[in-house]
Amino acid sequence: MYQEIILDHYKHPHGKGLTEPFDAEVHHVNPTCGDEITLRVKTSADGLIAISYDNQGCSISQASASIMFDQINGVTFAAGEQAVDHLVLMLQREVSPDEDILGDGIALEGVAQYPARVKCALLAWMAWKDAAIQASSKGEAK
Ligand code: ZN
Repeated sequence: MYQEIILDHYKHPHGKGLTEPFDAEVHHVNPTCGDEITLRVKTSADGLIAISYDNQGCSISQASASIMFDQINGVTFAAGEQAVDHLVLMLQREVSPDEDILGDGIALEGVAQYPARVKCALLAWMAWKDAAIQASSKGEAK
């Protein structure tokens, strides 16, 4: 069942395609697998962060980006960071998957068995965190 969720996101990615305007753009690469993502964020006046991205790579990296978009597009930095932190801990088997926090991201739990693939699953989420931090530091500089 989890395999199907991942395959479905891979075949029908949500939110794929870069949009403008944006406050920050990052490009992250997972050299061990060849996955790449370009991710943009746009922060609104009320602190909600809109995401757009374009990517290529393995099915796990692409499914994970689609799941990330579903789960944290348009949320605050704090809410997005909570999801990223939870995913990291889940993939280290430190916490049980929480569907309220991760949504379909709980389907990535099985990736924890394959340490080489953990970076594939984390790529999009780490790119989001990097971009969101850059966008917020830009805002503070104004
Ligand atoms: Zn990969």
